[in-house]
Amino acid sequence: IAAKEKMLREKSLRLRIQQREWQESSEGLKMLESRRSLPAYKERDALLKAISENQVVVVSGETGCGKTTQLPQYILESEIEAARGASCSLICTQPRRISAMAVSERVAAERGEQLGESVGYKIRLEGIKGRDTGLLFCTTGILLRRLLVDRNLRGVTHVIVDEIHERGMNEDFLLIVLKDLLPRRPDLRLILMSATLNAELFSSYFGGAPMLHIPGFTFPVRAHYLENILETTGYRLTPYNQIDDYGQEKVWKMQKQTMRKRKTQIASAVEDTLEAADYNGYSHRTQDSLSCWNPDSIGFNLIEHVLSHICKNERPGAVLVFMTGWEDINSLKDQLQAHPLLGDPNRVLLLACHGSMASAEQRLIFDRPPEGVRKIVLATNMAETSITINDVVFVVDCGKAKETSYDALNNTPCLLPTWISKAAARQRRGRAGRVQSGECYHLYPKCVYDAFSDYQLPELLRTPLQSLCLQIKSLDLGGISEFLSKALQPPEPLSVQNAVDFLKIIGALDENENLTVLGQNLSVLPVEPKLGKMLILGAMFKCLDPVMTVVAGLSVRDPFMMPFDKKDLAESAKAQFSGRGFSDHIALIRAYEGWKDAEKQQSGYEYCWRNFLSAQTLKAIDSLRKQFFSLLKDTGLVELDNESQNKWSHDEHLVRAIICAGLFPGVCSVVNKERSIMLKTMEDGQVLLYSNSVNAQEPKISYPWLVFNEKIKDGHLKMLGGYLEFFMKPGLADIYLCLKRELEELIYYKLLEPKLDICRYVDLLSAIRLLISEDQCE
Ligand code: ADP
Ligand code: MG
Repeated sequence: IAAKEKMLREKSLRLRIQQREWQESSEGLKMLESRRSLPAYKERDALLKAISENQVVVVSGETGCGKTTQLPQYILESEIEAARGASCSLICTQPRRISAMAVSERVAAERGEQLGESVGYKIRLEGIKGRDTGLLFCTTGILLRRLLVDRNLRGVTHVIVDEIHERGMNEDFLLIVLKDLLPRRPDLRLILMSATLNAELFSSYFGGAPMLHIPGFTFPVRAHYLENILETTGYRLTPYNQIDDYGQEKVWKMQKQTMRKRKTQIASAVEDTLEAADYNGYSHRTQDSLSCWNPDSIGFNLIEHVLSHICKNERPGAVLVFMTGWEDINSLKDQLQAHPLLGDPNRVLLLACHGSMASAEQRLIFDRPPEGVRKIVLATNMAETSITINDVVFVVDCGKAKETSYDALNNTPCLLPTWISKAAARQRRGRAGRVQSGECYHLYPKCVYDAFSDYQLPELLRTPLQSLCLQIKSLDLGGISEFLSKALQPPEPLSVQNAVDFLKIIGALDENENLTVLGQNLSVLPVEPKLGKMLILGAMFKCLDPVMTVVAGLSVRDPFMMPFDKKDLAESAKAQFSGRGFSDHIALIRAYEGWKDAEKQQSGYEYCWRNFLSAQTLKAIDSLRKQFFSLLKDTGLVELDNESQNKWSHDEHLVRAIICAGLFPGVCSVVNKERSIMLKTMEDGQVLLYSNSVNAQEPKISYPWLVFNEKIKDGHLKMLGGYLEFFMKPGLADIYLCLKRELEELIYYKLLEPKLDICRYVDLLSAIRLLISEDQCE
């Protein structure tokens, strides 16, 4: 023991000498000077004092004030200075892989070191860490995983949780686990850092922990909304109300101004986009008026227009464009590169910034471009707070963000871009005022901004609870409702119960809430559990391709567009795909397959245009299918040769049976009532239909069963929507309930033993197929 102590003491002294040498060198002094200009420096002593006196401290401060790079460094420096360098161990979590890497690299440079000396990082599958590393930046997921095997975090002295205002699911998870840990580790220090001022929430969660604020300074930023932006193109934006059977819906309509300017190239590009926006505006009919405005489609051409406007008319300064995800970023980048001005490398430096890029590319973002070249950075919402690009003067904000999954731990099924909050929009705007006053172009109308919520709902409250419950179980975090009740903002107990019940019904949990083999497999698929089950069934019954198309379509969004003024044409185009099947799912499968064929002939766009399909959505479906395939391969259910995994894909009855088995218990009976029909689900009683379904217009009265994938509540009305499927078979639900047990057993054996030949269960197979068959029931 004495020898070990001696070694530690020597190491601490060595670290202190190294630190002092750097601080006294000329380069070190220069670095220190720039670090001292950051707002955090003025609070250094107060921060260190609060941290040494309290177990938990909450620190807030404007983005860029020096929380992430400075605060952990202050602690490290003071520990080393006090000759405790060998025994201190700080962990600072970041919600994103890229910021963990970027920040650790920056901090190492500020300390005159290489990564892996006193500063390191660790993200999934990657990391640099050495024997002297006392400060480790890692993703939240990495710390969570460590907590699973080392419940007391032995040896760790400080945990710093960064960007807590983002309220990602992992961060909320982590706080629950840490709150449990603190009493067991009274010497452990916890520091929570956040960019916005809702620090009270976190402070009271930790029993009134002290809050420290780092005052900052930013320059004013002028906001332009879509109506102002469009004025420069000769268009006017007018909202009007559309009344329909189910209440009032606000729909946005673009109108060309009567006195239009000469039609320039840009004007016609914008015209196309606006028409597309109009389309999508109408195809997303939900009670949420915001969803009528879809920047996915307004996107690219308008962004191109704004960017070229900035490059032609505005003063120098970098541009930061907020997009929803890397797919969008890449396609926009391709488009811009073909533009005469924006694609000219002598005038524009076009960069992307997203979670999955290489670190060399990442560094370019921070560098100043050569004189006369304008830097344009296309970024996801990570540039809102975790990364600061100093020379930004212009911000372009598309208004949406995608809930991305950061790593496997965070396998949430949110693939849809959703509206950001007012806080996030303000934050994006603020990025333009770092060095001088700036301009922000919001690509949505002011009244859409006014309808944003103040703060984004925490991920824990907006993630479907079914997936979340599976996640808690697969991470072995104990009883579901007990665990969730300890969250910062716990979900409603009733919704937790509903989710657990649902998971039991589909066989993902057993009666005692333990994860089944099916549940384990579902927890790695990035879709809702019922859709995951459909995928597994598709693989088992060797009709994988069509089932993957359906699941991807239901998780992305509807590729069928229903433009207001061409609704009849669009509906008949869709009906042609559905044929006599009365099935939206079959229509989707055929539309997708037709598109794939057309793509091979390079006529994908024409095909989409003719059939009222969204090419962008079909592409998203395509890439999600690829993801499914590689995840399913890990289950062992997928045959590697394409023919055998699609042996029964052409069997429409079987495919529909599998859709039905996946969507179960989403089944309702159709009761014939003179000239109208009445729909009754198993649990809610009477419901209404709202949908662009091929079945919505003239419900097939002679078909007694309807399978649906979506049920929404509007006031006290319950409505079925999304994709619908009509079935002939009398007693469908009864038959399925009889089969369910056997089917689940088969899934169980097959997942345990993927080589199991299910043809031996030929009776069950034909029984399932019979569900759909139009023959009379035996
Ligand atoms: P906060 O966490 O409070 O948002 P940071 O600690 O990330 O602030 O950043 C503090 C300052 O350091 C910022 O002004 C930023 O411009 C600068 N900075 C951060 N990372 C880098 C980097 N990789 N290269 C150059 N400057 C950087
Ligand atoms: Mg930060």
